[in-house]
Amino acid sequence: MTTETLRNYLEFYRDLGFDSVYKRAQQNRDREGAALPVILPTLEPENDSLAKIRADIGDCKRCRLCEGRHSIVFGSGNESARLVFVGEGPGADEDAQGVPFVGRAGQLLTQMIDNTAAKEGIPIRRSDVYICNVVKCRPPDNRTPLPDEMDMCGQFLYRQLMTIKPKAICVLGSTAMKALLNTKEGITRSRGKWYQWRDIPVMVTYHPSYLLRQYNQQAKREAWEDLKTTLHFVYD
Ligand code: URA
Repeated sequence: MTTETLRNYLEFYRDLGFDSVYKRAQQNRDREGAALPVILPTLEPENDSLAKIRADIGDCKRCRLCEGRHSIVFGSGNESARLVFVGEGPGADEDAQGVPFVGRAGQLLTQMIDNTAAKEGIPIRRSDVYICNVVKCRPPDNRTPLPDEMDMCGQFLYRQLMTIKPKAICVLGSTAMKALLNTKEGITRSRGKWYQWRDIPVMVTYHPSYLLRQYNQQAKREAWEDLKTTLHFVYD
């Protein structure tokens, strides 16, 4: 690879929002021990599509999260959605089914979307939006994804968002917030506010898992307010 090509790659990834690059833990080698070329995704993929992004992910072994996963949880919903929800990463139920937000937190998210839309007279359901996560493989014991895992998988999240080009994004919890927004504020201060990723407005709200804790009545009310604001912004 020439210096010029390398520079182009680095500039491309910087534009996507990456501020660090990582060396693979172990370089792939052929049978004689010679280093195999690193295959990078194409620069600014033309006519990108969700199918192409999923194909590029392939049977991903780019980070350690591949070791414990059963499925790569790519995303689900309407591919031309006007609203995209971004969570943290798959849990056990999502890993088993290959679909994001299908466990307890997912059922709460579905209820929140369906019920708030119905109450506000907005004719949409969960299947009308698109839902995905920052990392596509379940972190062990549901731990928070590490920065290099988020960076590695972030390229696919960014491509998903650039392909769908929704009118707004709703980030669920602080991991998704950190992945898309350059803010050091905590979730309690950031929730309910509009930010921007590229030229797309981003609403920050609590993660549904947090809302499942019993003492979180106030947080629940706030999350419902955030969702109401988001749905009216997108669908009015
Ligand atoms: N939590 C997430 O962040 N994502 C899921 O898909 C499920 C639970």
